[in-house]
Amino acid sequence: MTAATRVLVLNSGSSSLKYQLIDMAGPVPGARRPARGVVERIGEPGSGVADHAAALRTVGEELAAAGHGLDSPGLLAVGHRAVHGGTRFTGPTLVDNGVLAEMEKLVPLAPLHNPANIAGIRVARDLRPDLPQVAVFDTAFHATLPEHAWRYALDPAVADAHAIRRYGFHGTSHAYVSRAAAELLGRDPAGPGGFNVIVLHLGNGASASAVAGGRCVETSMGMTPLEGLVMGTRSGDLDPAVIFHLAREAGMATDAIDTLLNKRSGLVGLCGDNDMREIGRRIAEGDERARLAFDVYVHRIRKYVGAYTAVLGRVDALAFTAGVGENSAAVRAAALRGLEGLGVELDPVRNALRGSGPRVVSTPGSAVAVAVVPTDEELEIATQTRDLVGERGLSLPPPQ
Ligand code: AMP
Repeated sequence: MTAATRVLVLNSGSSSLKYQLIDMAGPVPGARRPARGVVERIGEPGSGVADHAAALRTVGEELAAAGHGLDSPGLLAVGHRAVHGGTRFTGPTLVDNGVLAEMEKLVPLAPLHNPANIAGIRVARDLRPDLPQVAVFDTAFHATLPEHAWRYALDPAVADAHAIRRYGFHGTSHAYVSRAAAELLGRDPAGPGGFNVIVLHLGNGASASAVAGGRCVETSMGMTPLEGLVMGTRSGDLDPAVIFHLAREAGMATDAIDTLLNKRSGLVGLCGDNDMREIGRRIAEGDERARLAFDVYVHRIRKYVGAYTAVLGRVDALAFTAGVGENSAAVRAAALRGLEGLGVELDPVRNALRGSGPRVVSTPGSAVAVAVVPTDEELEIATQTRDLVGERGLSLPPPQ
């Protein structure tokens, strides 16, 4: 009999379904990924992919064409990316009807994301009711935040009645990168003395986290992913009174303000582009708006590095990840310029070298190591799924 060692990782968005088939066998789990891809434009007119069930059938066909159909005995489990776990889900969770019902209750906190995640889980379960389905939540890694970090300074009666608190997101990435940074530097994340790292996840969405001894103690996203750093299209931190002002003075409706802050702000709002490569090209041509957008973006990162240095007390490493963090030497250099007083000394030559793996970009003498650590959320989901399910698989109750 073939040992079941592969995890199918599904990331269901409202209009796309991304998948990776990851083999967890061998000396380097995840080194073999027999299939990966994305089904796009789900539910759009003329796309031919009516819904998530149709999208998963397409995935099944693509997997079969790669010789690893959904009916393959080598499949151990399906690991699902799930966005909002609220306070209910603080770790990877084996999905049953009760879990799906709890996830439904969290929809008001993530109205765009959670329904798509739930749809993805349902269709995968319908196709393979015998397989364990595991949900890995974006919020889970931040469940260790102390109350003084997660609580907003609001009347607790009001806040608690409406589940208003800081949850944090990108947790799967922060978990993976904080551990990989410790490994890169030859440190045990939770070993004696602890390993303290600030992770800067700078993609189209962006967030920072402070991780002490493997536990997240502070993070920049809040009740929703809108808080914190300047992002591709989100404003990040803002005086909440801006919203009242827009409503009263500009006559904007709530949904219009929501769209403005989530979709038309950040880099795109400041300069019309959210791709850091394009912004770099425009700056090289002397474009002032692009320059200002870059400056606002890196200034916010510096503020968080300073704040999280104070939160941690002692920082062993800064780890840059995601599209901008991994690729933009200019952002890393500008964000850390002049931070020698905090023990941070970037090596300009190492920083400018392009590379694909985890690497150190600080000087040998830098008290705080600066690392570039490519994130791998799919591998993290597959690892957490495999660890929960166990190598031989769980014995499941009869299909519900
Ligand atoms: P992610 O959300 O992690 O996929 O990151 C996407 C973002 O990474 C894009 O919007 C770009 O701004 C940025 N990015 C990707 N490649 C590069 C690059 N080579 N240099 C600078 N920024 C990049």
